[in-house]
Amino acid sequence: MKKILFVTSEAHPLIKTGGLADVCGSLPKALADLSQDIKLIIPNYQALKTSENVRFLCSIRVDNRNINILETRMPDSHVIVWLVDYPAYYNYPGNPYVDEQGESWPNNAERFGLFCRIAVEAAMDRVHQDWKPDIVHCNDWQTGLVPALLSLEHGRPSTVFTIHNMAYQGLFPGSTAAVLNLPGKLWHPAGLEFHDMLSFIKGGLVYADYITTVSPTYALEIQTPELGYGLEGLLDHRKEFLGGIINGIDLDQWNPETDPYITQHFSAATLNKKQLNKYELQRRFSLPDNERIPLFGLIGRLVEQKGIDLILECLPEMITMDMQFVLLGSGDKDFEKQLQKLAHLYPDKISITIGYDESLAHLIEAGADIFLMPSRFEPCGLNQMYSQRYGTIPIVRKTGGLADTVVDTLPETLANHTASGIVFNEASSGSLLEAIKRAMILYSSPDTWKKMQSNAMKKDFSWQSSAEQYLALYENL
Ligand code: ADP
Repeated sequence: MKKILFVTSEAHPLIKTGGLADVCGSLPKALADLSQDIKLIIPNYQALKTSENVRFLCSIRVDNRNINILETRMPDSHVIVWLVDYPAYYNYPGNPYVDEQGESWPNNAERFGLFCRIAVEAAMDRVHQDWKPDIVHCNDWQTGLVPALLSLEHGRPSTVFTIHNMAYQGLFPGSTAAVLNLPGKLWHPAGLEFHDMLSFIKGGLVYADYITTVSPTYALEIQTPELGYGLEGLLDHRKEFLGGIINGIDLDQWNPETDPYITQHFSAATLNKKQLNKYELQRRFSLPDNERIPLFGLIGRLVEQKGIDLILECLPEMITMDMQFVLLGSGDKDFEKQLQKLAHLYPDKISITIGYDESLAHLIEAGADIFLMPSRFEPCGLNQMYSQRYGTIPIVRKTGGLADTVVDTLPETLANHTASGIVFNEASSGSLLEAIKRAMILYSSPDTWKKMQSNAMKKDFSWQSSAEQYLALYENL
């Protein structure tokens, strides 16, 4: 049995802004199910919600500050959670990273720098809990200083750093290194320095004993200039200690047979009930409730990464077709405006909901026929897996985790019962439109469509095998 300290800036259902939270909410539970002794450490944000009791664990002094550590559990699990409680840094309204205007909190380097320092104290058991981990597993830039600082400790645990998205690196002016009082030994171009800036993510990439990303394809892609953001050389240098492990999904939360957010439960054997969710979605957004009109869904951050601009380019032609489109998301204000304008012009075809809505996300997965995910890059992606589980055929670009989890529909993949979506190659509106047309043709053949749905719904997206891969990695370290 390994003792694992899992360090993350978000974990569902405590606090979530995206896929990182889904993974950090479910992987620790899956590791606990494999009998591992795992604790999670996370900042105590104002918006953090837990249904479990919270108790005071201890108080420590770091950087001339008194910080409390509180203890709770992941809801409905035995996984212990340590909350780093320092109100001056974490008791802010809204999002862990940005304010209501979408601007990064100006003291993010200090906020996550302190969080990393506390995680190091916990990793070295200087919080005096008679619990010293064998492994410290860090996630994304917010935790990047942990492997760096631990590298200077004697008798330290092994470190794993998982990249959930290379596009976010935690870059700050070089002077921040002094503000954070970082040891001089870490401040050089082969350390935390990146073109005169302080790079949190480099702390993970340079100093972790092993680096993982959330899909095998993305692990290769980040070693190229296109997706390496100038760090491809470093990653290539460390490729012996870099691998991809695909994310699983939480099969209890995303289960069309029991989903508490939908009223009509269904399985591959009762796909006619899926139709009732489609009616509900159509009625909710005042779209004609016609079962034969293909309904496209999209849930996600409205940013260029997700190919929202490609969709905007396709929509003028899409609205000439017999189709409907329901979108839920928020992000780039310009994308939001353009989408809302189109919804206003074509209210019987397009519905746009700007915001974050867990319950509506489940209804869209349940009620849509086709899920759009034309990402420019996608480290793993979760919605394409949720979609397949709900018999909603995903249209994805062949990149990262999308390439690893969706099988294109071709004569041979239909014959061998693996076809589960539509995959296209080029990040262009022309290629996306072609994929959309291909989906419409397949949709018009109910027998073929049912086969695709059944293949998709049968796939195993559980955490079991991925958690076993992480465990094998921990054991090798
Ligand atoms: P990323 O982490 O890049 O945003 P992922 O596909 O890995 O993308 O995960 C996104 C997660 O966040 C999914 O669980 C998705 O359902 C959820 N999500 C994103 N936007 C919204 C929204 N507006 N409302 C509800 N859930 C959302």
